[in-house]
Amino acid sequence: MTVPTTIDSIKRSLVGLKMPRALEVLDAAVRRVEQGEMDGVGALDQILIEELTHRENRRVRTALLVSRLTTIKSLQGFDFTFQPSLDRSRIMALAELKFIDRAEVVHLLGPPGTGKSHLATALAVEAVKAGRSVVFSTLADLIGSLAKAERDGTLRERIRYLARASLLVVDEIGYLPVTPGGGNLFFQLVAARYEKGAMILTSNRGFAEWGEVFGDPVVATALLDRLLHHAVVIQIEGSSYRLRQHADLVPEHVRSKALISPTTSPRRRGRPPGRTKADLTSG
Ligand code: ADP
Ligand code: MG
Repeated sequence: MTVPTTIDSIKRSLVGLKMPRALEVLDAAVRRVEQGEMDGVGALDQILIEELTHRENRRVRTALLVSRLTTIKSLQGFDFTFQPSLDRSRIMALAELKFIDRAEVVHLLGPPGTGKSHLATALAVEAVKAGRSVVFSTLADLIGSLAKAERDGTLRERIRYLARASLLVVDEIGYLPVTPGGGNLFFQLVAARYEKGAMILTSNRGFAEWGEVFGDPVVATALLDRLLHHAVVIQIEGSSYRLRQHADLVPEHVRSKALISPTTSPRRRGRPPGRTKADLTSG
């Protein structure tokens, strides 16, 4: 029988050391030792593993909140067979996160529902788990926050903060028109991060349409100049996962834009990276 005062002393120490999970599992571990199921060293090992796992989970949870990653997606949860134009090995290589060390820009392009946000989120979650600092935002929210900072006279601090993150994910480029002056603000951020920090950008529009997206061809050209240098371009050409069960309900003229029609052309499979199309479906 373990002397109760020793257990009390261990508990006091665990409180002092701020080890709540170890405190929680201590009694059960002691019982297992008493019943001869485990020796003392085994119990110590188990208690410490419990505490470490608890801390690691808490760290990741907090970092996900700080990153503004509110919807969590995983690469395991992505069905690559649904998207045959997408090379699974390229995505898995990105998940090793070397693109972050190289401060590269990853472009995920494709029509709505093809998994761009899912993949961007899953890669961002991998980065958070690996201890990298991540900021995730839609383009509209990002520009909104920069515009607010400009009004408040804190634009420099805001850009400095956003430039410090190891990975900046900008989702949904091209869905909403950029507010006047927004392209300029985004350019200042891109210039601050250029060759210093990695980015993942998702868009349903081809690069040729960026002049229209940003409402200013000069800003768009300057943006693309930086964002296509050290870039990885991944083009998804397939059907919408959202509409996969409702293909028959979608009008023919929408379907004919390749929104949900199945990928029929096998030549799409080996499309080399870096090629872009101006006729990407918008919307
Ligand atoms: P996009 O950003 O390209 O418009 P999303 O990534 O938001 O598309 O995908 C739409 C929904 O479908 C999300 O809930 C996403 O998790 C899911 N989804 C898309 N593609 C796949 C896939 N290949 N496997 C599993 N889920 C997918
Ligand atoms: Mg999306």
